Amino acid sequence: MNVLVLNCGSSSIKYQLLNMDGEPVVLAKGIVEKIGLTYGSFTYKPTGKDKVVIEQPIVDHSVGMDLILKALIDPNYGVLKSLQEIDAVGHRVAHGGEYFSESVKIDQEAKTKIRALGEIAPLHNPANLKGIETMEKLLPAVPQVAVFDTSFHQTLPKKAYIYGIPYEYYEEYGVRRYGFHGTSHKFVAEKACRILGWDITQKKIITCHLGNGASISAIDKGKSVDTSMGFTPVAGLVMGTRAGDLDLGALLYIAEKEGLDLAKANTLVNKKSGVQGISGVSSDFRELQAAMEQGNARAALALDVFCYNVKKYIGAYAAVLNGVDLVIFTGGIGENDDIVRRESCKDMDYLGIRIDEQKNKVRSTDAIISTADAKTTVMTITTDEELVIAMDTVRLSKN
Ligand code: AMP
Repeated sequence: MNVLVLNCGSSSIKYQLLNMDGEPVVLAKGIVEKIGLTYGSFTYKPTGKDKVVIEQPIVDHSVGMDLILKALIDPNYGVLKSLQEIDAVGHRVAHGGEYFSESVKIDQEAKTKIRALGEIAPLHNPANLKGIETMEKLLPAVPQVAVFDTSFHQTLPKKAYIYGIPYEYYEEYGVRRYGFHGTSHKFVAEKACRILGWDITQKKIITCHLGNGASISAIDKGKSVDTSMGFTPVAGLVMGTRAGDLDLGALLYIAEKEGLDLAKANTLVNKKSGVQGISGVSSDFRELQAAMEQGNARAALALDVFCYNVKKYIGAYAAVLNGVDLVIFTGGIGENDDIVRRESCKDMDYLGIRIDEQKNKVRSTDAIISTADAKTTVMTITTDEELVIAMDTVRLSKN
């Protein structure tokens, strides 16, 4: 069974085609970028073959999807004989609100709800829906499935998701903590338990998904009980360009001083903040490390702030869980950056967390990095959100 996985943003489409018969195999993947701009770009990489890059204006998502489908069946570099070999399409959908605690097969009702949730996720859900509707036109006979970033966190207890604001805003507008990266948190927790031979329903786990967007979750007996992102993905950790937790009074003060309207305030906290804002160097951790090694004090400070925040959340969630059996690092930074892992776990002996310096020198792999005598196991686990989407798509499209 071949599954096309799509992650549609407002100006981009990331895609992967996977064969799910037996061990999943990625047949091809790539990205359509700069949709709607003067110069668009389309990248296509069939597994084991050279990458194809096409630069051309891509006026809308439908043109982008058309490029993807044509590439998949191209006589020279395609991986399918015809589009009929695509058996199902899985979509990453950012916001499932309180409607979706599970992935769903797309039908009229699901689309209506995803559209309605565009109200609270205006940057993501409309683009996700556009992807769904375009695919319905291009591949009308093929079942489609939506997998939500939020659904794993629908098990949060009310005390963890209600904000300290008038309750009517929750009732009327749905303003509450939802959390994101759910597919990743769930996937790495389950994968780690499989590797360790543990029963997840007996364990207390803290998952640190550290990428350009970053969030931490407390998982009790396999269920998410707290998570650092909130109503939007700007909350929680200091990230690449997002501010994370911020005194609301500080934002109001800056807005007044700088005469920021809502759109500018939004850009400030989402695009100009985080380690980029602190360092003035980059949002990319490789560039920050390089700058730090050359003596850039603000790059060093940005890394320090980031790790300190990760550490604080681990501590907070150990309190939430009343202990912790396993801490997992994943995402581009979590999987690759041994310095961030070491610094985030520094001086945490009281929690039984002790990193083994040698074991920690790993990248992009599944490994235990805690010392043999540590009470709490610490691991790096590679995440694969596309695989989760493909697996859910297989399961639901068969029903
Ligand atoms: P993601 O959003 O999960 O793709 O993660 C992207 C981030 O991972 C980049 O911005 C980098 O900062 C970071 N990253 C990727 N590879 C490395 C590496 N080898 N060392 C340190 N950070 C890395």
